[in-house]
Amino acid sequence: MRPDGPARPSTRSTGSLLVDNIGELVTNTPDGAGGQLSLRRNAALLVEDGEVAWIGPARYAPAADRRIDAEGGAVLPGFVDSHAHLVFAGDRAAEFAARMAGEPYTGGGIRTTVGATRAASDDELRATVRRLRDEAMRQGTTTIEIKSGYGLTVADEARSLRIAAEFTEDTTFLGAHVVPAEYADRPDDYVGLVCGPMLAAAAPHARWIDVFCERGAFDVDHARAILACGQAVGLGVRVHANQLGPGPGVQLGVELGAASVDHCTHLTDADIDALASHRVGCMCPEGLHTTTVATLLPGAEFSTRSPYPDARRLLDAGVTVALATDCNPGSSYTSSMPFCIALAVREMRMTPAEAVWAATAGGAAALRRTDVGRLARGARADLMILDAPSHLHLAYRPGVPLIRQVLHNGVPQCRP
Ligand SMILES: [Zn+2]
Repeated sequence: MRPDGPARPSTRSTGSLLVDNIGELVTNTPDGAGGQLSLRRNAALLVEDGEVAWIGPARYAPAADRRIDAEGGAVLPGFVDSHAHLVFAGDRAAEFAARMAGEPYTGGGIRTTVGATRAASDDELRATVRRLRDEAMRQGTTTIEIKSGYGLTVADEARSLRIAAEFTEDTTFLGAHVVPAEYADRPDDYVGLVCGPMLAAAAPHARWIDVFCERGAFDVDHARAILACGQAVGLGVRVHANQLGPGPGVQLGVELGAASVDHCTHLTDADIDALASHRVGCMCPEGLHTTTVATLLPGAEFSTRSPYPDARRLLDAGVTVALATDCNPGSSYTSSMPFCIALAVREMRMTPAEAVWAATAGGAAALRRTDVGRLARGARADLMILDAPSHLHLAYRPGVPLIRQVLHNGVPQCRP
């Protein structure tokens, strides 16, 4: 699948379904672009064939085959988690404990997970992805990007993406996560492998290509070469950039027209200028296909006890900001978008409205998707109903399971 044409889901609801008695409906319709939520009160929403068919005043709601009473709870678009590493084996709880006891995070533990992932069976990897995808869904995530990057051989990267594609349309080839131990002395040879046979094996299962552009991972020349190879075979670009220190990743991403640069923990004025100058302030197709989104991953700063990105500076400069989990076994083992919203509000001074927008419409922009992250006629019927009257409670009541019901493609999921 390519950035301009995600496939439609095969699982759809049948018949019509009315959601009413909604306390507050968050729509993210175009007038809410640029980080502002659009809110409606006394609204109802009709689902047909897996899509939103109608939104309007509850008193004018059409008849439907079935009804869900939101009981005064807020209804929001499903979260769009645009950055997750779910295909892996093992965990690194001991590394986390050591880090909390004072050891610094360097990214070197990725190789531990690579060893465990290579040794795992397809079914073991598949079970982990399913468990985490389901865990995320119970917390309101209805779209999730999944990266490879713990195989780092031709066969293991291809199978990671093949398994990821069973669960999402947004699969990302991250063969350039780290240089694996067997290539430690020959990084040029590894870049050749990534651009050659590994990309050829991965591309049929991938929509995106990504590089960890960081000191100790891939330098800017290697990163540019790898991303250009991916673009040449039709993959969209994303970059892990400026996480562990200042660096060239953000500006490289903008230069290449990346959909998103992710982490953005250490930014210079020039980085912010580069992002701001490429921003088009709308969710229209033209805007979506030229904007490079800054995707912030506060779970990583939380779990590595690092300073948080300066979200306010990005927002005040007019940069489009997304929030995502970075769910992975090393630096951010959370699948919870509500947790990331709470961190964004408390630690990064985003308003609750900005954080919820970034976790829904912002994530959709980071994946260049117009069918998710908002609730409007024709959008996917991906939504959540809260056990709370407004979106504010997602940050106001941190750690509380507020998601009462999730609809995915219009299909009610099991209650948590
Ligand atoms: Zn990541």
